[in-house]
Amino acid sequence: MAGVRNGGVSFWWQQVGLPSPTDRLQGDTSCDVAIVGGGLTGLWTAYYLAEADPTLDVRVVEAEFAGFGASGRNGGWLSSELAGSARTYAAVAGEDGVQRLRDALRATVDEVVGVAAREGIEADIVRSGVLTVARSEAQRQRLDGELTAGQVADRVQVAGAVSGHFDPDCARVQPARLVSGVARVVRERGVRIHEGTRVTSVSPGSVVTDRGTLRAPVVLRCLEGFTAGLAGHRRDWLPMNSAIVVTAPLTDAQWGGIGWDGEELLGDEAHAYCYAQRTADGRIAMGGRGIPYRFGSRTDVDGRTQDRTVESLRSTLSSLFPSLAGVRLDHAWCGVLGVPRDWSASVAYDPSTGLGHAGGYVGSGLTATNLAGRTLRDLVLGNGTDLTRLPWTGHRVRRWEPEPFRWAGVHALYGLYRAADRREDDGLRRTSRIARVAHRVAGR
Ligand SMILES: Cc1cc2nc3c(=O)[nH]c(=O)nc-3n(C[C@H](O)[C@H](O)[C@H](O)COP(=O)(O)OP(=O)(O)OC[C@H]3O[C@@H](n4cnc5c(N)ncnc54)[C@H](O)[C@@H]3O)c2cc1C
Repeated sequence: MAGVRNGGVSFWWQQVGLPSPTDRLQGDTSCDVAIVGGGLTGLWTAYYLAEADPTLDVRVVEAEFAGFGASGRNGGWLSSELAGSARTYAAVAGEDGVQRLRDALRATVDEVVGVAAREGIEADIVRSGVLTVARSEAQRQRLDGELTAGQVADRVQVAGAVSGHFDPDCARVQPARLVSGVARVVRERGVRIHEGTRVTSVSPGSVVTDRGTLRAPVVLRCLEGFTAGLAGHRRDWLPMNSAIVVTAPLTDAQWGGIGWDGEELLGDEAHAYCYAQRTADGRIAMGGRGIPYRFGSRTDVDGRTQDRTVESLRSTLSSLFPSLAGVRLDHAWCGVLGVPRDWSASVAYDPSTGLGHAGGYVGSGLTATNLAGRTLRDLVLGNGTDLTRLPWTGHRVRRWEPEPFRWAGVHALYGLYRAADRREDDGLRRTSRIARVAHRVAGR
């Protein structure tokens, strides 16, 4: 697409400069804890383990560079949104368990903001809250928000908004600055991050890579949307695509025209929802699902997304803000997040094998990675805590269907969600039955 930079990992990484991989693994060696994957799940786990016991030899093994995956590409919503399905967690831990997880995630927003402040991580963090808008009667009923159309417009003038909800427990971040800051602090605490080192398989006591084998009594798998690339894990979590476009910096007149004076994050209540932030340098970064899934659980190359997805995000942006219809887009990219078959995250560790993992946050991982990291720390150190009793701990889920059923199912599912959105946009006054069918098909 002419004029729009596509891929290059993400706009966030282009802003800070793409790093070159360092400290590649040099042949066989051993350590106390081997963490596979240098995204925020792996890095936060390393951070808290090193803090709890500085004598531990903790290593992170990363195929590219720390933050190459979703952690350096996301929408920058550090939100307290539940990572997973309330119904699924309630089935194992009751309503009380769901509430404890919600409370823990809410507290985790403060934890991340606090660690960043203490450790000198400059990540454009503003505890700005999030505004969710309903743009149809069906969306209004689902959202059940406290803001009238007029009150929404006082915050941001979104075309067609009929109501809204404001959640203060959310912060705006620049993802690459956050993840590179956490990586820096982790290294300062003595953890080695073996970048440019691809893991091919894991088993009790051993991490096999393209540059040698790392032996460790504790092996933690923290690959989220990339899990399917590991031998034996192809059908564990589905790598779901999400894509983002970023505009050129807007002029004061353009910001004035849409009345977006604050730095609150912005999303809608569509089934194929969008999420946006006002960046520190005065652009809008807006994301949505695009083409949801690539056949065979393949992932993108360096964040390059499809032209169709860029066009679809452009049209969502101008539907929200008609006055920005002609605005220049500077960059587009995509990434993968991990979706378990029941759309609910898990954190697990088996002391008898020394194997553990965390992930499957289904698009709400920025806050959840920190909570998961602290939970893995407690599990590995054998400490029973409030965290290890959260309903996602030890949560088990069945595998996805083999291909081509997986591909056909996911594409049909998102076809249904888009059809449901169209019917609701056309004036249906309640949530479309098509969406209910889609939820049932999805197993949510
Ligand atoms: C476009 C997009 C927007 C999103 N927006 C938001 C948002 O606004 N808010 C929110 O809460 N969540 C959001 N998410 C989800 C969130 O970013 C993720 O859930 C979270 O970052 C997952 O972190 P992680 O460390 O588990 O995985 P990742 O960050 O994906 O890290 C996994 C790492 O493993 C590495 N790796 C892969 N294969 C191998 C291998 N074989 N050997 C070694 N290393 C390997 C990868 O290079 C990568 O660095 C978004 C995700 C995407 C893709």
